[in-house]
Amino acid sequence: MKTIAAPAALAPFAGEPAAGEALSGYQSGNTYDVAVIGAGVFGSWTAHHLQKAGNRVILIDGYGAANARASSGGESRIIRMGYGGDEVYTRFSKRALELWLEFFHRTGNQQLFQQTGLLWLSRPDNPQVAKTAEVLAKVGVKFENLSRAELEKRFPQFQLESVTSAVFEPESGALLARRAVQAVVADFIRSGGHFLPEHVVTPARKGAVKSVETRMRNKVSAGSFVFACGPWLPKVFPELLGQRIFPTRQEVFFFGVPPGDRRWSMPAMPTWIDVGDLYGFPDIENRGVKIASDRHGPPFDPDTGERLVAEAQIAEMRQRLAGLFPGMKDAPLVETRVCQYENSSNGDFSAGSPSGNEQHLDGRWGIWSRIQAWSGGGRVPGGASARSWKGAGATLQPGNKVYCSKSARCFNVTSKTAVQV
Ligand SMILES: Cc1cc2nc3c(=O)[nH]c(=O)nc-3n(C[C@H](O)[C@H](O)[C@H](O)COP(=O)(O)OP(=O)(O)OC[C@H]3O[C@@H](n4cnc5c(N)ncnc54)[C@H](O)[C@@H]3O)c2cc1C
Repeated sequence: MKTIAAPAALAPFAGEPAAGEALSGYQSGNTYDVAVIGAGVFGSWTAHHLQKAGNRVILIDGYGAANARASSGGESRIIRMGYGGDEVYTRFSKRALELWLEFFHRTGNQQLFQQTGLLWLSRPDNPQVAKTAEVLAKVGVKFENLSRAELEKRFPQFQLESVTSAVFEPESGALLARRAVQAVVADFIRSGGHFLPEHVVTPARKGAVKSVETRMRNKVSAGSFVFACGPWLPKVFPELLGQRIFPTRQEVFFFGVPPGDRRWSMPAMPTWIDVGDLYGFPDIENRGVKIASDRHGPPFDPDTGERLVAEAQIAEMRQRLAGLFPGMKDAPLVETRVCQYENSSNGDFSAGSPSGNEQHLDGRWGIWSRIQAWSGGGRVPGGASARSWKGAGATLQPGNKVYCSKSARCFNVTSKTAVQV
């Protein structure tokens, strides 16, 4: 049995590898119950759940867990219960937050969830916030309806202009994304899971997959494979997903707050969403106020895309920030990030098999054992937005119901279908 030399396997990583990035446990010749490819939020939780269910699991990621290119590699991500009228996602999110909190409590990582509250700004002609409130009430999620007058009193930092009212979720907030995912992977490894920091080559489409190969020519054999490759999925399965998942460039800005001014941190400032437009976070861990547009940017390659933000975009965001928060008018830019959404046509989370027939999960690639999973983050005009930080709760397990896109072209959805996996 050959053991891979650690220095070669670790070569792509500079400096001290963070938890979950180091080669751990793998030896060629090993056979696993499940190999999970991709250590973002979806892959890491999938590996965690499979391990907890008694499987021998290996997690594989060419750039490392929640790396700088991954969609899960950002500093913070909103976890919110509201998804307009899409009750299934509210339920997923509720469960996901419970699981994150249980996990953080067990591993002593409570700081990785910041309960900032989540404020939905409602403007005329946008029914999503009202629908959100209906579903939150139905599902039993705590929330408050705030009138314009209450908003002005409670959150005077905002210049509200056409905002008429808001819905406030007091128990939602921000997950410290990169570190949270790395904590899940570290826990998976501590509990005996194996981690291989290598890039998996697309398996042949014909016949059942018994093993996959990496670019370093290592072979991983397993009974089942889960491809949780997020925005890389169109590259991994170009025929199947090349025209179905579209990564777009998304820019994120951090602006420095005035010294000692507590209006910009919690509890004074919540995480907020101005539906269909901007969203932002308070000053968390002294990194500054974060603001970004939820609109889709241009197509983006997660491997080769440069991640610098142009002057014009900085100037535009500076202006938008000052418009919404006059007190931040002269704030300096302290950091920018470029990430990518992976967009399906309707923004829905999806799970499917390489046969391409998402309703056919009990077919040849069948019941869980040969399933691949992917997330459908992002939004389409008028649709609901990125769904994946529910990843913790939406992880597939035998017996779960998975909500899939239903149509001839998979993602051109007119309705959602519950599929028993
Ligand atoms: C700017 C921005 C803001 C966002 N805000 C929110 C938010 O507030 N709330 C929310 O819910 N969602 C948000 N999202 C969406 C969310 O972050 C993503 O949907 C989620 O992180 C996707 O996770 P993932 O595990 O599917 O993919 P990723 O995190 O991208 O992980 C995929 C992994 O697969 C690995 N990989 C790919 N191909 C291979 C291969 N062949 N072999 C080995 N490894 C491979 C990659 O290295 C990568 O680590 C946001 C996204 C962006 C970009």
